Amino acid sequence: MLVTVSMEPLRRKRRIFTFVLIGALFFTGMSSLSLNSVSGSEVDKTIYLTFDDGPHPIFTPLLLSLLEEHGVKATFFPIGHRLEERWLSDDLNDLLNRGHLLGNHSWTHRELTKQTQDDLYYQLNTPSELIENMTGFRPNCFRAPFGDRNYKVLNAAEELGMKHVDWSIDPQEWREPKIEEAMEHISERYEGGAILLLHDRTFLSLPILKEVLERFPSSEWSYKTIPECMVNEEKKVRSSTREKGDIPIGNVKNVFKIDETLRVSGWAYDPDAPNGGLKIKHSGKTGEVKSLGQTNLNHEFSFDISDFDVDTPVCLWIENEGLARHNTFLGCHNATFG
Ligand SMILES: [Zn+2]
Repeated sequence: MLVTVSMEPLRRKRRIFTFVLIGALFFTGMSSLSLNSVSGSEVDKTIYLTFDDGPHPIFTPLLLSLLEEHGVKATFFPIGHRLEERWLSDDLNDLLNRGHLLGNHSWTHRELTKQTQDDLYYQLNTPSELIENMTGFRPNCFRAPFGDRNYKVLNAAEELGMKHVDWSIDPQEWREPKIEEAMEHISERYEGGAILLLHDRTFLSLPILKEVLERFPSSEWSYKTIPECMVNEEKKVRSSTREKGDIPIGNVKNVFKIDETLRVSGWAYDPDAPNGGLKIKHSGKTGEVKSLGQTNLNHEFSFDISDFDVDTPVCLWIENEGLARHNTFLGCHNATFG
């Protein structure tokens, strides 16, 4: 009885509070706040980093190192003819081994809407053919130079199996703005689902990316590759291009934290080891090199790591034992939490 009496005013108070809250939200028009309160779900904090116009002999490798330092993934749109001039298959595979993705950005960076049908086909098909020769797959996505596209361009791309990837933040760092100005432009537009456009042909992309990853750290934001650019049957198609004596290739598919353990899984392939047995290694908490184990018959691996620091990305590589070629880096990865 005593309980019922004391509960009643509390309920009424709650009802009044709810009414006032809803009223306040309604009249102030705070739709986003009310939406968050209603759904109660976490705000989406996914960001897609994209880099166009590479590869550059100096800036692209530096950019890759910076991404590793933060354990984040990105999607690259290199220009076809630059790729042909500057990178070999091993370089492009290195980008993929680290967990980044790849799209088509035309052959010579022309305005695609101004091309004849034949030239349009040439601009779009030639890079895809080159990428297929180097990696075993044709890109599933493309980005039109200058974003210049119409139905004719989109249809031609679709016939070649590619979807267009737009962007939502473009600080135009190639115009050489002050870093603070570029950061102001970026910060105003930084939100869940945003696609940031930078260029790995300009130096300024490096300090800007550094600043972005410090201001919007990977501990709070989830950096992902563009889903449309994902490679179908990646292990199978990429492995099909490798020959005896080639450097192994691979990919870390999952880094998942369960209690005090980090479970890492992925695949690694070397035609010199047709039955698997490739050694996978990682850098422990103190930077000490540790062997995790070997790939199985299907060229896959899954290991539990207990020696890790939760704030530091875990870095893995394949040891190419017995061959005079260097080891294959599998990138540095942040854990997803269970
Ligand atoms: Zn471009």
